[in-house]
Amino acid sequence: MVTVIDGLEQRGLAKRLPHPADRRAVAVTLTAKARRLLPALHDQGRALEDEIAARDREIPKATTHDAQILAIRDARRYLGDRLIRVATPHRLLDPSAGPLIAVRLRILTRKTLGGLQTDLSGRVLRSDGTPLPGLYAAGEIAGFGGGGMHGYRSLEGTFLGGCLFSGRTAGRAVAAALG
Ligand SMILES: Cc1cc2nc3c(=O)[nH]c(=O)nc-3n(C[C@H](O)[C@H](O)[C@H](O)COP(=O)(O)OP(=O)(O)OC[C@H]3O[C@@H](n4cnc5c(N)ncnc54)[C@H](O)[C@@H]3O)c2cc1C
Repeated sequence: MVTVIDGLEQRGLAKRLPHPADRRAVAVTLTAKARRLLPALHDQGRALEDEIAARDREIPKATTHDAQILAIRDARRYLGDRLIRVATPHRLLDPSAGPLIAVRLRILTRKTLGGLQTDLSGRVLRSDGTPLPGLYAAGEIAGFGGGGMHGYRSLEGTFLGGCLFSGRTAGRAVAAALG
């Protein structure tokens, strides 16, 4: 909670004020800026709730066009998943399946399967295939996935080895170039 209030304060959305009746406590109040934002937040909340309710309505249906539910059903046909995943699909807003926990996700790229073209010394190559002087690449940026170091099977669990190996290779090449 302290971190949440710190964040709100940094954004000018909340203030810690001395508690009027208790010197040991602080009172947290929303600023005028926060109050102006509240109606929009309520609208966003309602829109999200409508979306979740619409998804929940699809759960009991034998046939649905909801792409996520179809993907879950498809994945659950795989015996390995059925054995180790214990949560049967259910309505998100089913109180008996609670508590409802929200998680903020942040998007990142992983396993780009692309990157810069290098030679076997980790030197970055120009589009005409000649080395760009002084520039080396190691790790995922060296583009060893997707047809590089691991052929076309560079998927789960195969990246860290390539990162370390390409780092060592590029490091040695840099040391050799510097004499
Ligand atoms: C969720 C997840 C699970 C994974 N699981 C596995 C696994 O089980 N097995 C496996 O082998 N691989 C796994 N990988 C892939 C593996 O972790 C990555 O391929 C590897 O960490 C890439 O290492 P890297 O050093 O090339 O790049 P990164 O680890 O991405 O390092 C790049 C660094 O550069 C920094 N940086 C970016 N821009 C700048 C800038 N302008 N100036 C200064 N610094 C900058 C970044 O902050 C970062 O620290 C997983 C990846 C993810 C995301």
